[in-house]
Amino acid sequence: MKYYSTRGGVSGIRFQDAVMMGLAEDGGLLLPDEFPFLGDELESLRNLAYPELAFEIISRFVDDIPMNALRELINKSYATFDDNRVIPVTKLKSCYLAELYHGPTYAFKDVALQFLGNLFEYIMTKRDMKLNILGATSGDTGSAAIYGVRGKKNVTISILYPDGRVSAVQELQMTSVGDKNVFTYAVDGTFDDCQYIVKELFGDLDFKKQMHLGAVNSINWARILAQIVYYFYAWFRLPSKEAAYMVVPTGNFGNIFAGYCAKKMGLPIEKLVLATNANNILHRFIASGDYSLREVVGTHSPSMDIQVASNLERYLYFLYGQNSGLLKRALSELKSENRINFSDVEMKKVREEFISADVDNAASEKAIKRVHDEDKLVIEPHTACGVEAAYRLGLPAERTICFSTAHPAKFPDVVQKVLGFLPDKPAGIAKLDGAARRTEKLKNSADAVRAVMKSKLTNNI
Ligand SMILES: *Cc1c(COP(=O)(O)O)cnc(C)c1O
Repeated sequence: MKYYSTRGGVSGIRFQDAVMMGLAEDGGLLLPDEFPFLGDELESLRNLAYPELAFEIISRFVDDIPMNALRELINKSYATFDDNRVIPVTKLKSCYLAELYHGPTYAFKDVALQFLGNLFEYIMTKRDMKLNILGATSGDTGSAAIYGVRGKKNVTISILYPDGRVSAVQELQMTSVGDKNVFTYAVDGTFDDCQYIVKELFGDLDFKKQMHLGAVNSINWARILAQIVYYFYAWFRLPSKEAAYMVVPTGNFGNIFAGYCAKKMGLPIEKLVLATNANNILHRFIASGDYSLREVVGTHSPSMDIQVASNLERYLYFLYGQNSGLLKRALSELKSENRINFSDVEMKKVREEFISADVDNAASEKAIKRVHDEDKLVIEPHTACGVEAAYRLGLPAERTICFSTAHPAKFPDVVQKVLGFLPDKPAGIAKLDGAARRTEKLKNSADAVRAVMKSKLTNNI
């Protein structure tokens, strides 16, 4: 399997190089040459344990790691989860809930980043190379990435997060890690600002090369790949073999793009259901073709407080019939006019795949309350956006999967406000109470980040 860039400037590269490149060198995102079709094999995959299913799916996209080594990497990645099913699926009154949050940082990003951390270690060891990871986070990616690579040799990680805009637990998780290869920076700006800085530094090819930069953002193909697995796993847990609605709380379009890939591979998905919070550009896009940028507003679900969904580029590439020229034209329209205009034909195609809803704070609170009343279960605000979207759209409970993207103890304030009590803390969150923190404030500028990285990473370049 070879990989190429959505923008047409990179092609024919192998899996390990795609992982190391992160953002493609032409500024685009990497995609596999083909999506293997598993539609004829579903029954033989149905009863596999999660790590085995992961191997069956991931191995079809990898031809430059020996199969036994790949199997080991995958087993190691999911052995850190606190439930031996890895992704337990629970029946609720209004849907099936697939719990993606049983990894070390209690949010769904562990599913991909435990795997990516192990991949980096494997590739570094094989190539005897150094790697300095740089990433932006709206909260959960940072902690999950840090836990993916903490303590690993020849690898450091520097994480930018928007100062004051991540939850207390998220900040504690990121800043309480004592490992010497971990650096965190509180940037005076939004998540989008952090992401722009990261994109700019990766676009500075001299700096990228000099610093051995690597990415963990959801732009890394390996993350999408790892996430494809749980769409299959969750569908196999449904009572019927009918096509399902897959409901995804969405910010950066990474998780839901993995669902789009799963559908391309033959998984019976009726619709991908995109749920946003009040930062609803993706909902406006799907519901009315209005893809215009607005200010980011803070909500109960900070990991979805995003306007520029960087993974959307991968989908747009397919929407434009795999035509890099059309894609690039749309992206420059976005840059100059802060919007992309879509034709009726394009919107019809979008709506064949997706339906959507935007869920504001009040509606997410209602969903938390309703699920607790109906099912005696506590969900957190990101998950609540999805559950509320399913409810509002009247989706059939028997064939609807809502992805639960974080443990409620990661976002306890909203739960307490709505239900009047704090969610139980799992062991890995309870132990953070009173932990020592280490972080540094930074100006909202790429130059500030360049300078601090150059000064701190002298031992690993
Ligand atoms: C990152 C995150 C999301 C959004 O996922 P994307 O792949 O960026 O769309 C939703 N919920 C939680 C808890 C997250 O951490």
